[in-house]
Amino acid sequence: MRVATVFSRGLSGLEAPLVRVEAHVGGGLPQFRIVGLPDTEVKEARDRVRAALDTSRFRFPDGRVTVNLAPADLPKESGRFDLPIAIGILAASQQVPDRELATLEFAGELGLAGELRPIRGALAMTFGAHRDGRAFVIPDAAAAEASLAPGARVLAARSLLDVCAHLSGAAPLSPYRCTALPRRQSHGDLSDVRGQHQARRALEIAAAGGHSLLMIGPPGTGKTMLASRLASILPPMTSDEALEAAAVQSLASGAFDPSRFGERAVRSPHHTASGAALVGGSSPPRPGEISLAHHGVLFLDEFPEFSHRVLEVLREPLESGRICISRAARQAEFPARFQLVAAMNPCPCGYLGHFSGKCKCTPDNVQRYRRRISGPLLDRIDLHVEVPALPPSQLKRAARGERSELVAERVKIARAKQLARQAVANARLDATQCEAACAADDSVYELLVQAASQLSFSARAYFRVLRVARTIADLAGCERVLEGHVAEALGYRGAAPT
Ligand SMILES: [Zn+2]
Repeated sequence: MRVATVFSRGLSGLEAPLVRVEAHVGGGLPQFRIVGLPDTEVKEARDRVRAALDTSRFRFPDGRVTVNLAPADLPKESGRFDLPIAIGILAASQQVPDRELATLEFAGELGLAGELRPIRGALAMTFGAHRDGRAFVIPDAAAAEASLAPGARVLAARSLLDVCAHLSGAAPLSPYRCTALPRRQSHGDLSDVRGQHQARRALEIAAAGGHSLLMIGPPGTGKTMLASRLASILPPMTSDEALEAAAVQSLASGAFDPSRFGERAVRSPHHTASGAALVGGSSPPRPGEISLAHHGVLFLDEFPEFSHRVLEVLREPLESGRICISRAARQAEFPARFQLVAAMNPCPCGYLGHFSGKCKCTPDNVQRYRRRISGPLLDRIDLHVEVPALPPSQLKRAARGERSELVAERVKIARAKQLARQAVANARLDATQCEAACAADDSVYELLVQAASQLSFSARAYFRVLRVARTIADLAGCERVLEGHVAEALGYRGAAPT
């Protein structure tokens, strides 16, 4: 009678708690029990493990085989535990040596022929294994992403036989080294946008201060093009940000591409997306679009077409940078510090104010259309800008804009000032920090108070204008926020739908 203990990892939000897989082989009638997995998953896991042992020419032990996964109350997905279960059974039946098991962790789903299939969340699990001082044995297909964890030892295997050859010393697996991945430039360049001086300026301010942005204009004026270029001018991610973003993306199968490591994600879900797709859901909970856009850009085109309920759930993560998901008594928290860029038409037909004059929408229709976005949500968007249609003759004359590279340089300098002054981007200043950071004269506040009462601003909107003014001053290289900066910032509230 023997017991073998093998280490693995579960997933709960971005955490990957340790799971002990204990295998026991005893006498008695043949029986194979797995304890600690949901009943529905036990049978499948049992069938896969049994088949893989068989096709890999191992002997399934006679007698009673009991596998216990502890702790019992963790959310578990059975697939990832196939490999540790198989290794546990092989070690308990003395078909592979157990001397190295205390220094290793295992995860991987087994195919019926013993091949290892990729798993989600490899990066979060590797962080955990490394923190506890163990090397991580995982499927080859997930190794590139796992190897991003700094200092971690990742052993990549293609099959159960590879892993067993390592444990027996016949063919040790060598630590996985990530080969240099080609850098892809995928965002396009800001110089592709013709004209639209004001919108480009708003985009630069949004990038510099991390502000959310709403663009209002007819179809075909370049709103989508502008939004997709935001990532090309954003300041580079810190290595912590890049790792955190990659770890979240790695939780959603297929969402993470290691060659994109360090690039800010741009997610643009369609307006028919469900609440679960947008904020996360399913059981066990998985991250939604807002978390896949963590440290990146969430672009919502046709903003008023999103369902009211879906839009309202954005309010909380817009403030806190996190989302808590509850599903069937399970809770998971995912980071969701995205930069929101929204775009909308000025009216239901889209052509209000267009040079063609073809809009026939009634003022009532326009009002109803714009009211689909609630005041509190609009309040949370820092910059509102109009993106007008240019007649073809003007568009031809309109100069190509500056290249992204030049704008990105100014953005980088402005952002560095913010981090040096207050350790966060201006968009994340709270009210007290904001006034301290602005170091403005009384006349500046007088101007702001006057405008706020004329335009009946909420207190929230008041501070948003001040934060944007702080960013405008940073772009101008000014230590103090001046009246001109506030005046420009006020201009970005004017186009707000009322
Ligand atoms: Zn219209």
